[in-house]
Amino acid sequence: MILLIGDGTDDSMITAARNYQLGADGRFALDHLPFTGAMTTHGLKVGSGPDYPIAYVSDSAPTASGWSTGKKTVDGRLSQGPSTAANIAGKDYETVLEIYKKQGKLTGNVSTAELTDATPAAAASHINARACQGPADMANCQSALKSAGGKGSIAEQLVDNKVDVLLGGGKNRFGQTLPAGGTVLDYATAAKGYRAVDDKAGLDAITSLDGGPVLGLFSAGNMTPMYNPLVAAAPPGTGGADQKCTNADRGNQPDLSTMTAKAIELLDNEKGFFLQAESAMVDKQEHASDICGAIGDLVELDKAVKVALDFQKENPDTLIVVTGDHAHSTQIVGDGNGGRQTATLQTADGDPMTVAYSTAASGSNHTGSQIRVAASGPQAANVTGTIDQTDLFKTLLGRRPSTLSTTPAKPSKPVVALVSDRSITAKRLRSSGLRVSTNVAGATSVRVSLTKSGKTLTSKTLNRTGRTVRLTVSKKISGTVKVVVVARGPGGTTIKTTTARVKR
Ligand SMILES: [Mg+2]
Ligand SMILES: [Zn+2]
Repeated sequence: MILLIGDGTDDSMITAARNYQLGADGRFALDHLPFTGAMTTHGLKVGSGPDYPIAYVSDSAPTASGWSTGKKTVDGRLSQGPSTAANIAGKDYETVLEIYKKQGKLTGNVSTAELTDATPAAAASHINARACQGPADMANCQSALKSAGGKGSIAEQLVDNKVDVLLGGGKNRFGQTLPAGGTVLDYATAAKGYRAVDDKAGLDAITSLDGGPVLGLFSAGNMTPMYNPLVAAAPPGTGGADQKCTNADRGNQPDLSTMTAKAIELLDNEKGFFLQAESAMVDKQEHASDICGAIGDLVELDKAVKVALDFQKENPDTLIVVTGDHAHSTQIVGDGNGGRQTATLQTADGDPMTVAYSTAASGSNHTGSQIRVAASGPQAANVTGTIDQTDLFKTLLGRRPSTLSTTPAKPSKPVVALVSDRSITAKRLRSSGLRVSTNVAGATSVRVSLTKSGKTLTSKTLNRTGRTVRLTVSKKISGTVKVVVVARGPGGTTIKTTTARVKR
């Protein structure tokens, strides 16, 4: 199971990135996935419950918790239920990653943000506030402190959960000191057997999980986006009809597709694995009204989709799901058609495209539209139509078709259909006989008799499915006669009767 997330990646952002990188008629790998649907992403607001107010615009914490746990929760909260206030903990909900781990499968969690950021955190930690990323960030999560009997900060929980492959940014969070002394990173390596790496060369050198789980922390905070920023500004805006995005200097940081490929290589095993990989900076750069930063990391997400599809070709029992977590603010607008901040780029078509950000005078915020979800592989059709984020939970766990019982059904009594002539002359009964038709299921022997006043006049054995016979009686009789069919089978005996009148 490979889940690829573009944070803040909605159809508007996908279209802008596609126009820029491939042109209006281009298609990303994610556009080619065979099953595509729409997904609602709303969250809840804190309250007295159980009918919590809806948050029509939600953040990455409740949205990632939605697919991770199958349940809605409040803004800022990670894989834990709603409550009356942000600093009061709810009930912990088990995650997809934890369920797979319990089943003995390997697990991976990759992000280009800090590993303790909301999306990767929701996969393998439970805490009331997403800000409680390291042991020094616990002001709003007092009940989660280990000293208070809690599970600790997000960084501690990721390590305690022993996720087999953890790759991303956020070195500074893991460098924070624990109350008991030492950093989270020290704890991960000394107490949990993690092998730590901090650049692409270090990651390349790891070729199996035999030596223990892997913790790759490739930047102090979030990782560097693929493209240098182009930040929108109040109209007339920035950029221009010939403006192109430029590659950023990312130093020794691996990119998302490289981390995804390495995670798959390490996790691939006979029992299966679950990998969540997030292109996180699409969202972060949209928050900065940075169109180039967002485009570059969406293009990189698509490269990671290709990596997953290549693996699926060799391993067709792999389900790939590609989606976002919530909509964002990037809009493609007509020339001079408004927006509080705009930027213009030259697309792959050679034409100018203007994007606008309108949720704030500077910077930008999430929006509340449904977003795309696409999938390929076993059970991929479950993402089609309009689903909610929480519906993904069961799909990620691998919904299976119904199975039929292998216990043989208890045999039932034979079923007999019987029709006979209702009346006949005595003469005709002697010459050609009374016509009796039977149709029998579930019998091994069938016998039909003609009786009068309890005495058998004549009888015949039929084949086990019945047939049409004529019953003749040599004696001169008249009055009512009874046709009796006795069908015996493994489920019991069925007797069916009709009557006929014999006229003089
Ligand atoms: Mg995120
Ligand atoms: Zn965001």
